[in-house]
Formats: sequence, structure tokens, C-alpha cells
Amino acid sequence: MTAERAFGLVTIDLDDTLWPCAPTLRRAEAALYAWLERTAPRLTAAWTPEAMRRHRRELMGRWPEIAHDLTAVRRRSLGELLAAYGYDTALADAAMACFLAHRNRVAPYADVVPALRALGAEYPLVSVTNGNADVARTPLRGLFDFSLTAADVGAQKPDPALFQGALRWSGVAPERALHLGDDPYRDVAAARRLGMTAIWVNRGNAPWPAELEPPTGEMRDFRPLQSWLEDRRHAL
Ligand SMILES: [Mg+2]
Repeated sequence: MTAERAFGLVTIDLDDTLWPCAPTLRRAEAALYAWLERTAPRLTAAWTPEAMRRHRRELMGRWPEIAHDLTAVRRRSLGELLAAYGYDTALADAAMACFLAHRNRVAPYADVVPALRALGAEYPLVSVTNGNADVARTPLRGLFDFSLTAADVGAQKPDPALFQGALRWSGVAPERALHLGDDPYRDVAAARRLGMTAIWVNRGNAPWPAELEPPTGEMRDFRPLQSWLEDRRHAL
């Protein structure tokens, strides 16, 4: 007889849990800048990529109501800069299409696809991200049952809105939900505050923050996950 599953829902963070974020962003920003050099050369003659990054940060201070929505922040920042150099602000939409196409060209870690396939065979899977990757346009399309971004729910983790959205979608109580993520505060502590179980996906072998209660589980990658779940099953 098969023991009952300990969980009725698995939520998973995207950036730095399923793929490395920094190289993806670097490539997307370089592609966008090259596009701008061709399309809006007066802008790029005056603004380096680093200066544009500072402009976005400064804009988030001026527009706190969109600071959780990184696509909206980038689009508005590009619109302001384009307008300042006499370009049509509608070009910001084409610029964002260029950026997002590259933002979704992620390279998942080698253990990710087999782990998601195995998990997905047993549990509803929901991606919950503070970022603006669109799972359906990444190499992981089709592996999640549902996906939520901070822009969808109006707040970034550690705000509970992303987790609450996933719980509401599934109808599963927090005590029967498992979250997997790389950030001790935004993933592990935030999920735990709602009563969820959380595994720290610690690919960089970082030290756990001393001020936080240790995580229920910690993994360098997803390979030990199935046996961890089996142990939970038998512990019931
Ligand atoms: Mg992350």
C-alpha cells in the first residue's frame, strides 16, 4: 500500500533556483543595449548600461507603486529616457519585447528538468517569482501547472501574496504545501511564516543567516529531493 503524500502542492522559485539569474540578465541587457544603439543612438551616446541601471533604481523610488513590477519599471524608465532624446515613447514597448525575449532564454541547471518531471507526476507545481521571466516562453514550458509573478499579485516575496495566490489556486492548506527556493528570507522564511514547509535550495553553498531559524531541508540541487519526499511519506 502506498503511504499518503505529505504535500498537496509544491511551489518553486525561478531565478537562482532553476537557472542562474545574473548571466541571463547580463545577456538580456546587452541585447537590449545593442538594440538601442541601432534604434535610439542619441540615447546610448549619453547613457551607459550602468547609468541606465541607476535610472531604474531612482525611478523605483519615484514610483513605489510599480517597484514590484520589474517589467513596468524597465518600460517606464526606457520611456522617460527615449522621450528625453526626442524618440517616440512607444519604442519602449519594442525595447521591452527585445529584453523579455532574451530574459526568457534561461539555461536551467542540469538537475532541474528531471526533477520537475518527477515532481509534476505527483504534485501540482506552481512557479512563484519576484522576477519577470515568463515560464511558458522558457525551456521549462509545460512543466508547471500554474505560474505567478510579483506583477500578477502586486507584491514581491517576502510579501505572502505569491504564496497565497498559489494556495488559493490549488485549494491546498499551507500546512500541506512545500516551497523550494534559493533565498533564505524571500523564499524560506516567507513561506514558513504562512505555515508552509520550505526547502532551501542552496546551489552556491552559502552560509545560512544566523538570525533565521534553520530550514526544514537544505539541498545543493534537486537530486536528493525525491528521497527527501519519500522519507516524509514514511514519517506520516
Ligand atoms: Mg530566486
